[in-house]
Amino acid sequence: MSSIEIRDSKDYRDSKEIIDDKETRDVKGRYRKDLQVANVQRTNEKLKDEDACNRKKDVLKNHSPEELVSIFDNLGIKKFRAKQVYGWVMKNISDFDEMNNIPKTLRETLKDKFDIGNLKVLVKRSSKVDSSSKYLFELMDGETVESVAMEYEDRLTVCVSSQVGCKMGCSFCASTIGGLIRNLEPWEILDQVLKIQYDLNKRVSNIVMMGSGEPLDNYDNVLKFLKLANHKDGLNIGYRHFTISTCGVVPKIYKLADEKIPINLALSLHSPFDEERKDIMPIARAYSIEENITACKYFVSVTNRRVTFEYSLIDGVNSSDKHAEALARLLRGILCHVNIIPINSVKESGYKRPSKGYIYRFKDRLTKLGINATIRESMGSDIEGACGQLRRSMTNK
Ligand code: SAH
Repeated sequence: MSSIEIRDSKDYRDSKEIIDDKETRDVKGRYRKDLQVANVQRTNEKLKDEDACNRKKDVLKNHSPEELVSIFDNLGIKKFRAKQVYGWVMKNISDFDEMNNIPKTLRETLKDKFDIGNLKVLVKRSSKVDSSSKYLFELMDGETVESVAMEYEDRLTVCVSSQVGCKMGCSFCASTIGGLIRNLEPWEILDQVLKIQYDLNKRVSNIVMMGSGEPLDNYDNVLKFLKLANHKDGLNIGYRHFTISTCGVVPKIYKLADEKIPINLALSLHSPFDEERKDIMPIARAYSIEENITACKYFVSVTNRRVTFEYSLIDGVNSSDKHAEALARLLRGILCHVNIIPINSVKESGYKRPSKGYIYRFKDRLTKLGINATIRESMGSDIEGACGQLRRSMTNK
């Protein structure tokens, strides 16, 4: 197995800028204004607490109630306090002094030993064309990640990021352009969900790990996040309502299957041909399509959950009838679904989305060949909805 090559951002810098219409320029103008406001806030807060970045305390939100009981016990704090503190933390409090059933002396001890773990909303953009909102969050070390909330009549789905940046180098994806900065901790993923739930005042029902980062490249923290978000005293989101999307880190697909957690798996396939997939996604040089499909079949057999194959449709690259036919042959007989994502143009990639007619032709071809396929509505097309686009436009990372 070869190692994965990290694509150099220079590859993209020279490529043609294709997002250049008036609407985009207007939107970009608005974002720049927001960033100036955000920077002023950050500077003021740094002055208030100069060593904030150097301090590293245990974060309450990183723990289940059971873990808090044992941590408190080791510190000589009565066990029943753990449950009370956990309750406050999940109420999205921002200050220990809001814990009004905890004695002041204990609050001081807690302040000394722990951080609550709160992300800051730097920017929120609500779409005018659909019911999605995009959030840019600031982490405690000043890095930023983005999340998307998609509201439907009967559910609220949140798309979370799992890493700051990404090392996978997929050629159409904005998240990977500056490479991987760092993994997110479990609480940093959890708090994206909690903050959105409180901001929209609506229970989050579904979580998709399709924001920035490769979830299976941050395996342990992602697994812990799943357990925290599923906890009945916490967000209490059933495992069947989680989807993890991966570019195809094959050994980790097996590992995830063996956890026997009934979550949904989405595999970013994007081409039925190995050579072509290698051009689009460097990970394909490490694991063949056949290895991925075998791993997905194993996942289905162990979890009994359907696998989704994501297929980002790029004009003139992977959108022909030949591709649809090869894809149908590849997936025949697998309990699966194909999600066609017309490419969101990221200026560095130079890729274009096919015309509407071509997108439907591709889908119809698959359906006729017996493969269940849908076209993913492009949520938030006016708010830089694709992976990593908002963070890039705001921070140039
Ligand atoms: N690392 C994970 C999550 C990525 S985001 C993965 O690779 O699956 C979720 C999906 O969006 C992936 O299928 C990804 O390939 C796709 N994607 C990323 N940027 C895109 C863009 N600009 N247009 C269309 N699809 C994109």
